[in-house]
Amino acid sequence: MNNRRPLLAGNWKMHTTVMDACQLAAEIGKCSAAAKDRDVLLAPPYTVLSEVAHVLRDSNVLIASQNVCWEKQGAFTGEISPTMVTSAGGSAAIIGHSERRQIFHEDAEIINMRVHGALKFGLIAIFCVGETLEEREGDKTFEVLEGQLKEGLAGVSQENMEKVVVAYEPVWAIGTGKTATKEQAQEAHAFIRKLLAEMFEKSIADSVRILYGGSVKPDNVDDLMAQPDIDGALVGGAALDAESFCRIINFS
Ligand code: PEP
Repeated sequence: MNNRRPLLAGNWKMHTTVMDACQLAAEIGKCSAAAKDRDVLLAPPYTVLSEVAHVLRDSNVLIASQNVCWEKQGAFTGEISPTMVTSAGGSAAIIGHSERRQIFHEDAEIINMRVHGALKFGLIAIFCVGETLEEREGDKTFEVLEGQLKEGLAGVSQENMEKVVVAYEPVWAIGTGKTATKEQAQEAHAFIRKLLAEMFEKSIADSVRILYGGSVKPDNVDDLMAQPDIDGALVGGAALDAESFCRIINFS
């Protein structure tokens, strides 16, 4: 038993119009009301951040952006700043998602700058790591995770680690319907926690929440959440369906 509060986070990616988003947010807000012993978070597209925050203003649902810049303002076409996120009602940002790393070629240095930017302006940084199928099959999972964690969290103070959530998302399990087994996920989470203890302090490693992401669904969430080092889920596809995400929030 640990005292880490579970966090169930939904990443809507590039989905939802204003109307869809408000409706989905309202339904998720309703079913989250009873979830007193856990945190719920939604990462809608930037275009609906403030609308979703408004719909959920009286709820316990946290709002995150799907990425964030390190600067407060300036000539950064296409980017969103940490203060834009907070002014829209957000309190967190997803950083280093594999879609950003792979499709948009965000490298370790940029991701580390984003982590620092989020933390500097008081956002929770949901920092994603995970290996590809090729890396897993080549027995490189731990090596890849270690590199991503050391590079992505370089220079983060012990104090700021309180605002960091790590999401382990094996790339081969994202959007594929292929979930890591609970044993594979637990093994990776335990490795990450051990590494965090080496990089920071054991007490920090013991308190950092590590989410699992990769085809989390109503029928596998209970098994995953029963693992000692899995503290929550980062959910893509199933977070776009209120019934499925509500079931995930109410994992037992
Ligand atoms: C994700 O986008 O972070 C994710 C885990 O997606 P899915 O749940 O659809 O695999």
